[in-house]
Amino acid sequence: MRIILFGPPGAGKGTQAKRIQKAYNIPQLSTGEIFRHHIRTNTPLGIKARSYINHGKLVPDDIVLGLVEETIKEEKYRNGYILDGFPRTVTQAEEFDSILKKRGESIDAFIGLEVPKEELISRLASRGEGRSDDDPEKIKVRLQVYHQETAPVMHYYAEKGLYHEINGTGSIEDISERIQDVLNQFA
Ligand code: AMP
Repeated sequence: MRIILFGPPGAGKGTQAKRIQKAYNIPQLSTGEIFRHHIRTNTPLGIKARSYINHGKLVPDDIVLGLVEETIKEEKYRNGYILDGFPRTVTQAEEFDSILKKRGESIDAFIGLEVPKEELISRLASRGEGRSDDDPEKIKVRLQVYHQETAPVMHYYAEKGLYHEINGTGSIEDISERIQDVLNQFA
């Protein structure tokens, strides 16, 4: 099963991806977490990505696409994955389709978490993970970037008939149940 978990910053993608990972035994693939790991360990990729991430901006498409193309080749991801935080631009979505096509693969479902803006801001400001991009100024930039560059990705998958909108408010358990109602069709 190949799934895209989509939504604005603070929608709960990471939390829900980890729960899907457990429930269906398919690995989460979070580009943000991979970048943070590279930043912590000071790799060349981490050095390239750091200033974009610290400013709340998107890492350039070619860097992200190179990372994803290499990562999905790993044995761990052979039988599927839950993408969390990718694709984040229409170019990434288009290029990712060609990467999948070359491999004879495709996406099963695109799950969009819907959360009102006020709730996103309060969730991000209080999540306390110590992320350099969770301060109020960076949160503002990340939400702007989401609306300008990332939200159009929804239409890309809606046109392909893959889009499933999920109400992202309420308890973590309730949101998981809504997601599983969709995913059970593909498992
Ligand atoms: P996340 O953990 O998904 O919130 O990602 C944290 C940060 O990593 C983002 O604000 C971006 O700077 C960068 N990032 C993660 N995934 C992508 C992506 N698909 N495209 C561009 N930048 C990304």
